[in-house]
Amino acid sequence: MEIKVLNKGFVRLVDIMGDDSAIVQAARTSYGTGTKSYEEDKKLIRYLLRNKHTSPFEMVELKFHIKLPIFVARQWIRHRTANVNEFSGRYSEMRDEFYIPELEDVRNQSTTNKQGRSDTILDSEISSSFVESVKNSQTDLYKEYKHYIDTGIARELSRINLPLSIYTEWYWKIDLHNLFHFLKLRMDKHAQYEIRCYAEAIAEILKEKVPIAYEAFEDYTLNSMYFSKNEQKLLSKLLNNIDIDDALLSDVKLDKREITEFKDKINLLKQK
Ligand SMILES: Cc1cc2nc3c(=O)[nH]c(=O)nc-3n(C[C@H](O)[C@H](O)[C@H](O)COP(=O)(O)OP(=O)(O)OC[C@H]3O[C@@H](n4cnc5c(N)ncnc54)[C@H](O)[C@@H]3O)c2cc1C
Repeated sequence: MEIKVLNKGFVRLVDIMGDDSAIVQAARTSYGTGTKSYEEDKKLIRYLLRNKHTSPFEMVELKFHIKLPIFVARQWIRHRTANVNEFSGRYSEMRDEFYIPELEDVRNQSTTNKQGRSDTILDSEISSSFVESVKNSQTDLYKEYKHYIDTGIARELSRINLPLSIYTEWYWKIDLHNLFHFLKLRMDKHAQYEIRCYAEAIAEILKEKVPIAYEAFEDYTLNSMYFSKNEQKLLSKLLNNIDIDDALLSDVKLDKREITEFKDKINLLKQK
């Protein structure tokens, strides 16, 4: 099962051990009863995830073959609960394959999110000129790399000036509990667009392979909402028909960023 991602990347499911029934099987061992009807199994999986009884989800293991630009790999590798084996640029020559963003994905720096890009689509002249310049320097740097290789410089040194946009590949193995944690963080709108594309491809695979567990993850983790103690106090005021700005003037104190986050959550709820 392979899903194309970005201009040259992919996510390919190589192997899977277990499915929804493996979660049920493990859970029923601890509760002392065997497999029951589909509906009862579904209720059990949803109960487990809702109550963060996560070890049965570790019974499902997935192994992926992934091709991704190095700047995405740098973010991805921070997830320590997986097993990784990566292509070696010391052993083999790096391929002439680079990430080139689509024009509509080229954006200015966001003014509200220090780590992200703006929602506004740029004038096509600006984005085309950025993409052209990126392509030209990729070509030049790869030419220089090949030149070093041809003159006999070691591959491990020849590669050191290659850009972060070059593609690498790895095998990545992880259990379903930790994969859900990865998806929760990397499908979020705060994650960089490019890693989000990979997370969404993996989600597509999970929808097919562990449909009940994935649906529970969407309901109780991915699209769930967290309210701190102070936010709950404010929420209680809103439920008692106190205006949000008046509620924020009350004795319940949130800092500036918390207020923005709280308002975002309330606005999201209003749109439901
Ligand atoms: C939007 C976003 C922005 C980010 N920005 C930055 C940034 O600017 N700079 C930066 O450095 N990182 C950044 N990160 C990376 C982030 O801080 C985490 O390192 C990354 O998301 C992995 O999360 P994790 O540690 O929970 O995951 P995993 O490594 O998969 O770990 C899963 C869980 O296992 C436990 N665990 C695993 N290993 C250990 C350990 N050694 N000790 C204790 N507990 C452990 C923890 O409970 C952890 O939550 C960012 C991540 C996101 C999603």
